Amino acid sequence: MDSRVEQIEQLKAKYPDLPAEAIYKEDMLRTGIGFSEDSLLIASGFKPKAYFIFSFDLVPISEMSARENFRVPEEIALEGGKEAFRRVIVSVRVNPSSPYRVEVRDGRLVLCLEGEEVADVVYPEYPEYYRRKLSSGKPVTDIAPTIEWGYLLYLTVFRLCQYFGRQEECQFCDINENYRQQKKSGRSYTGVKSPEEIVEALEIIAETDSDSRAYTVTGGSVTSELQGKNEVEFYSQYPEAIERRFPGRWISKVVVQALPREQVQRFKDVGVQIYHPNYEVWDPRLFEIFCAGKTRYIGRSEWIRRILDAAGVFGPEHVIPNFVAGIEMSRPNGFETVEQALASTGEGLDFFMSHGVVPRFTTWCPEPLSVLGKDNAGGAPLEYHVGLLRVWRDTLEKYGLPAPPGYGVPGIGQAVFSVSSFMDVVRNGGQNGKSSSKGEQGTKH
Ligand code: SF4
Repeated sequence: MDSRVEQIEQLKAKYPDLPAEAIYKEDMLRTGIGFSEDSLLIASGFKPKAYFIFSFDLVPISEMSARENFRVPEEIALEGGKEAFRRVIVSVRVNPSSPYRVEVRDGRLVLCLEGEEVADVVYPEYPEYYRRKLSSGKPVTDIAPTIEWGYLLYLTVFRLCQYFGRQEECQFCDINENYRQQKKSGRSYTGVKSPEEIVEALEIIAETDSDSRAYTVTGGSVTSELQGKNEVEFYSQYPEAIERRFPGRWISKVVVQALPREQVQRFKDVGVQIYHPNYEVWDPRLFEIFCAGKTRYIGRSEWIRRILDAAGVFGPEHVIPNFVAGIEMSRPNGFETVEQALASTGEGLDFFMSHGVVPRFTTWCPEPLSVLGKDNAGGAPLEYHVGLLRVWRDTLEKYGLPAPPGYGVPGIGQAVFSVSSFMDVVRNGGQNGKSSSKGEQGTKH
């Protein structure tokens, strides 16, 4: 097996049309990052990882001997250095034994790969609102953390999922296990947040913050009822309360299941602008295996039909299904080769984009507390992730579609989306022959 440095060099040569920064970023997202003790000491003055929904770590908290779960930054920015990086933002996924390490050399924070310096590291500033607590004593970091370098307020209002156990939970997901380990660690981690405490947290943020541009309301699926409400009744309370208090202040998004058209309309009516009915994986066989609960309650064909129905409610560019890039290649059920996996997901991308719907992806983190993570510690091959960036970008350009709205300014050096590189590889300012959505170009990021 070639060294990681050699693998990166080979992929840089094979994909000269992709930014090299994105290749490193994908590798860090699938592998995780280690931190030296002095880099952790410096991190104490910067914005900490808030565990906004899943663990997104390569080891469980019980194996973090340096208590990294309380000490690492939410994200790092890479820039300059020997590789002359244009700025790229990377979500921090803890892995103490990763070949990627943040270290302090000659008084500078640097990212090293297999001991060799790659780029300079910048930590995110500690926001004023992270020092504040709600009247209940809960910290803002629990109720309304921000990610994407401060661009996105991430409101996980239900930190559990009613798909429960191996027969129902999505196999790549550790939401329920993560909730348990966070509570055990002593972190303030509210299982079900109330609309009132969400609005109170946003009032604190609104006093001092000028970076956030969007919010996402999300959480686990509600298959029966939660507090006497079904999924749409439960989740629509939050944008409704936010828009009543702060009309139009942020781009509003929800991530929930693919719901029937009349229920989707309810979100639109309360002021939601962007809908994420995540489809996770395109291949029908893998969808059934990896998303057993969704298959049983809704089914793949119906899921896809509802995504297209939602395009009629929000407009196709405002329906953005996520998929978990890499699970297509997980053992024992995934594709054997990179080519097969790219062909399958590429088919899904082509299908949706031919309808004007632009999926986006999260780079799979094989979390050890998830079913797939247990058998796939190494994640998917780096070449798959890099190849997918090209397929996604080329399909976007083939259909002349703009970069998805709600993620800030696209393109290498400007993008802030931190859990995959799709926004880093967008060319032409994301226009691609069509105008992008209002309010995105020219914002602070
Ligand atoms: S629906 Fe699946 S991915 Fe979403 S929270 Fe539940 S188990 Fe996780």
